[in-house]
Amino acid sequence: MTKVLNFKQELTGCFGQPVSENPTQAMIEAAYRHHDLDWRYITMEVGPEDLVDAVCGVKALGFRGFNCTIPHKVAVIEHLDGLGESASLMGAVNCVVKRDGQWIGENTDGKGFVVSLRELTKPAGKNVVIIGAGGAARAISVEVSLAGAKKITILNRSRDRGDDLYQLLNDKVPSEAEFVLWDKTYDIPEGTDVLINATSIGLFPDVDARIDINMDSVTSNMVVADVIPNPPKTNLVKDATAKGCKVIDGLGMLVNQGVIGIKYWSGIDADPSVMRKALEDIFGD
Ligand code: NDP
Repeated sequence: MTKVLNFKQELTGCFGQPVSENPTQAMIEAAYRHHDLDWRYITMEVGPEDLVDAVCGVKALGFRGFNCTIPHKVAVIEHLDGLGESASLMGAVNCVVKRDGQWIGENTDGKGFVVSLRELTKPAGKNVVIIGAGGAARAISVEVSLAGAKKITILNRSRDRGDDLYQLLNDKVPSEAEFVLWDKTYDIPEGTDVLINATSIGLFPDVDARIDINMDSVTSNMVVADVIPNPPKTNLVKDATAKGCKVIDGLGMLVNQGVIGIKYWSGIDADPSVMRKALEDIFGD
């Protein structure tokens, strides 16, 4: 497939990180090629001061939609016509889609995670412990709650972000919520069904980092998930696998949010295995 843009190609893309650091392009374009879509996904480094012009630009250039990442997930909202349910609850958008002439902000991070979770267990009625209270934890906790989780415990190092997320969950979603300040080694409570690392601990190059939880309190009946895509086999993933837990790595969430984005933009059900392979070629498996 030609790498030169031509006027027949449909355009999608991403605003945010520098191009060289964004593997999403390889993943999405692998799906476009696999499904014979003459489409492109172009990653563009856009600073906060250029966001409004960049949004006007994609609208004028006829883009089907776009992702946005840090630092645009909140700032982009005022340039859109509306929000999907979970993006509205979270107050953050990572995927924009043109529907009936309206530019609508969605959040596919948590939805992608829930697709991965459903492959292993039903979220409904489950007790979920989420480590972290940043953007990933916010997206996952809201979506897991909308999928019917019974209780969500947020464990976070800083009190302010932990409290913020606790308040959001308590006020806006149906699950019971709890916040625990993470100031010592944490014992995973008995009765926990799903344990999720949604911090950046373990992300390359900090690959030897270990999460300060008591691994003896992690039992084989738990599903253990890590959001870190690089490397996919974090210490948590390795330790939980050794314990006999069912495990979700960070590539699962990344692939599934991409599948959902492609569905929003094109109506196609993209093959996740093709997309995962493109990521494994970059990150290893
Ligand atoms: P944020 O910066 O919004 O949040 C980071 C979180 O990690 C905070 O809760 C922070 O705690 C915690 N944290 C970071 N370092 C430490 C540490 N040393 N000890 C304890 N807690 C720590 O980041 P995001 O939520 O946007 O992203 C988090 C991770 O999720 C990233 O690594 C990203 O790559 C990954 N991610 C993966 C996706 C996927 O599709 N697989 C999608 C989105 C994100 P505190 O509040 O105390 O600072």
